[in-house]
Amino acid sequence: MAYDSDNIFAKILRGEAPAFKVFEDEYSLAFMDVMPQVPGHTLVIPKDPTEDIFNADPVILSHTMATVQTVAAAVKQAFEVPGIMLAQLNGPAAGQTVFHLHFHILPRTDGIDLQMHARGMADFAELEAHAERIRAAIT
Ligand code: AMP
Repeated sequence: MAYDSDNIFAKILRGEAPAFKVFEDEYSLAFMDVMPQVPGHTLVIPKDPTEDIFNADPVILSHTMATVQTVAAAVKQAFEVPGIMLAQLNGPAAGQTVFHLHFHILPRTDGIDLQMHARGMADFAELEAHAERIRAAIT
C-alpha cells in the first residue's frame, strides 16, 4: 500500500489538524492519543512519511526510538506509574488504523485494565492537562 499523505497524522505534522503536543525534534513528534486506552496514552511518530515498521528508514527509526525513550520516561514520571507498555501495530490484521508509523506509550498499573482500542474521544481540557504534565516531566 502506498503512503496516504491525507492520513490524520500527516495532517497533524502539516499543522492542518490539532494535536496535544508533548515533544518535538527534527525527526519526530509526540502527542496525546485522543482516544486514550488509559490516562496518559501518548503517541510518537516520525516526521518522515512512513507507513509502518517495514518501510521505515533505520536511521529515522533510531531517532524516533530515542524520542520514545525520552517521552516514555516522562509519562512514567508524570503519571507516577510502575510500568510503561509500548505498542506498535503494522497492517489492518494487526489492528493498525492510522497508516503513519506510530508508537503507543501506555502507562500501566496493577489492576487497571486498558480500555478498548480507538474508542471514545477524551475530554480536550483533560488531554491538554495531561500533555502539560508530560511536558513538565521531560528533561
Ligand atoms: P493504531 O490502531 O495503532 O493505528 O492507532 C491509531 C491511534 O491513533 C488510536 O489509538 C487512535 O485513538 C489515535 N488517533 C486517531 N486519531 C487521532 C488524532 N487526531 N489525534 C491523536 N490520536 C489519534
